Amino acid sequence: MEKELKGDGLSWILLRMNIFPIIILTLVITAFSAISFANSMNEEVKNGLVNLCNTVTTAYDTIYEGAYRTVEQDGAVYMLKGEHQLNGDFAFIDSIKEKTNVDVTFFYKDTRVITTIRDEDGNRVIGTRANPAVAKEVLEGDREAFYSSTEIEGERYFSYYAPLHAEDGTCIGMIFLGKPATEVDKLVRRSINPTVLFGLITMLFVCFFSIRFSKQLVNSIQRIETFLESSSNGNLHTKLDSKVLSRKDELGDMGRHVVKMQKALRELVEQDMLTGLNNRRSGEKLLKQVHESYEKEGVPYCLAIGDIDHFKYVNDTYGHECGDVVLAGSSLLLKEHMQGKGFAIRWGGEEFLLVYRDMNMDKALPHLQELMESLRNMHIPYGDTYIGITMTFGIVEGSMERIELIIRDADTKLYEGKNGGRDRIVS
Ligand code: GH3
Ligand code: MG
Ligand code: MG
Repeated sequence: MEKELKGDGLSWILLRMNIFPIIILTLVITAFSAISFANSMNEEVKNGLVNLCNTVTTAYDTIYEGAYRTVEQDGAVYMLKGEHQLNGDFAFIDSIKEKTNVDVTFFYKDTRVITTIRDEDGNRVIGTRANPAVAKEVLEGDREAFYSSTEIEGERYFSYYAPLHAEDGTCIGMIFLGKPATEVDKLVRRSINPTVLFGLITMLFVCFFSIRFSKQLVNSIQRIETFLESSSNGNLHTKLDSKVLSRKDELGDMGRHVVKMQKALRELVEQDMLTGLNNRRSGEKLLKQVHESYEKEGVPYCLAIGDIDHFKYVNDTYGHECGDVVLAGSSLLLKEHMQGKGFAIRWGGEEFLLVYRDMNMDKALPHLQELMESLRNMHIPYGDTYIGITMTFGIVEGSMERIELIIRDADTKLYEGKNGGRDRIVS
């Protein structure tokens, strides 16, 4: 019953309506959260570097009083803080590196004087120069700067640079503090991953329930569609799935309406308008089924044809309308009588066919005799009077003969009954 996902099908429309917006919304929200997390992490790292830089410079100011300066000796330039020579004094910056994993460098102009950064061979990268753009911004601009990516000795750094000043206030160098970008990335990823994971799991959950709900909806609609398709092809006995009928929503209502419509159509097509019995067309179909189950499985049946006696007299005496009332009243009795035994068909004007299912003559005949008695005792009210009728029946057992011949056989017996004086059964 389930149909493929058609490009213009309902499943596809629901998918477009529900799943795509959920996926897009979740991805956008997760991406925004991740970006803002990353930004706040960067900001945190930056503040950490700035604070550490302040700690380092304040410590130097406290321990080594005086301004930064340089002296030349034997053609080499040395950098001093007050009277303390910075060149070769790695103890303090190494201890910072050890405790915080932040690299520290002191520059004379753009040249590294002391640093914790080492090259591939493990040697400190003393004497190497800062990136010209950084040097220009910090030294010439005489201002601090933060870079989210600076490459030093093949490694990317989150870096903070601040100018160092001589006594007269001129900028003679700079201090660098940097954290390897890989480490920062790791930190950022660690803080983002739970957010992304949570977003994706939520998305999967919502998608799962949305698909489940949509599927149920589409299934119900498809069942109604199949039911209508089958009914419109003339199969008015198709049943609508009880799952649809048990729904309390509009689809359930729709299901109940179409079932009602099918019933009305069935009555219109299969029932005789005046008597409410099976009409000849539908009756023939039912009889065929009963006859086939006799032929295939040996299930017995009896077939009786009955005709109201002197019905013309009723019409002629009381009028056609009265005839109709009598026909309807008699049919009601036939219908009630056949309940649980088989079915009655209005075969012609005032002629009826009764089919006793799963019965041989021994079983069916007493029932028919009982019916005759009821017919004799029936008084149908019309105006101020009551009309009584009798009927004559011919009854035969089902056999391997063609069905037309079996009917003809019963018909012959009916006429025998008529000729024999009516109000009787000929078997
Ligand atoms: P018999 O005992 O031989 O069967 O006599 P009868 O008068 O019943 O038979 P006949 O065939 O002469 O008349 C049947 C009448 O039934 C004729 C017809 O007008 C009438 N009839 C057939 N169908 C209807 C109907 O739907 N409504 C009414 N009111 N009369 C009908
Ligand atoms: Mg008659
Ligand atoms: Mg007749």
